[in-house]
Amino acid sequence: MLDADFFRRWMTATAASVDREAERLTALDSPIGDADHGSNLQRGFTAVAAALEKEAPQTPGAILTLAGRQLISTVGGASGPLYGTLLRRTGKALGDPGEVSEDQFAQALRAGVDAVMTLGGAAPGDKTMIDALVPAVDALGDGFAAARAAAEEGALATTPLQARKGRASYLGERSIGHQDPGATSSALLIAGLAEAAGE
Ligand code: ADP
Ligand code: MG
Repeated sequence: MLDADFFRRWMTATAASVDREAERLTALDSPIGDADHGSNLQRGFTAVAAALEKEAPQTPGAILTLAGRQLISTVGGASGPLYGTLLRRTGKALGDPGEVSEDQFAQALRAGVDAVMTLGGAAPGDKTMIDALVPAVDALGDGFAAARAAAEEGALATTPLQARKGRASYLGERSIGHQDPGATSSALLIAGLAEAAGE
């Protein structure tokens, strides 16, 4: 079972890795974007960590809902509302229990990823965060380490794609040959799950 501490560890592990990788995320957002993805997420996850410490929500659902709300209110740019929706919708799907099974979490995360696709209109292959998140959710039944590997592979596989959503899509064919920053940060988010699980 996954308790509130697991979800707190997930968010703090993600905040730490986003902090470590912020420069790389911003560098990826420079040829096909506006060079702010790392700083956007760093601001967002710093706010998430601070809010979790201050408000100390006690259930998995409340933790993710609060985290999502922080991302929406602090991250400028496309990725804030999208990541915020992912965590808020996942949190809402988890509901009120103090512990959830890995299966329940996988179902909730799928609802979260579906909500991101509805909000942003992106499908797999459009060179967005969806290209890391969908394979991760598909692999989650095999455990957190499998989800992490699938997300990393999905992020790498965005390089040869042409962007069809977001700022990078304005570049048309010139977006080809660059790894998508949002898919890369999504792989960090999923890696945080394995870290929280001690894998
Ligand atoms: P902005 O593009 O507003 O500067 P960020 O740089 O923070 O925002 O985030 C860019 C990332 O957001 C992209 O690399 C992509 O993965 C993701 N993204 C952009 N638009 C969409 C969308 N419509 N659906 C899903 N993800 C998207
Ligand atoms: Mg940007």
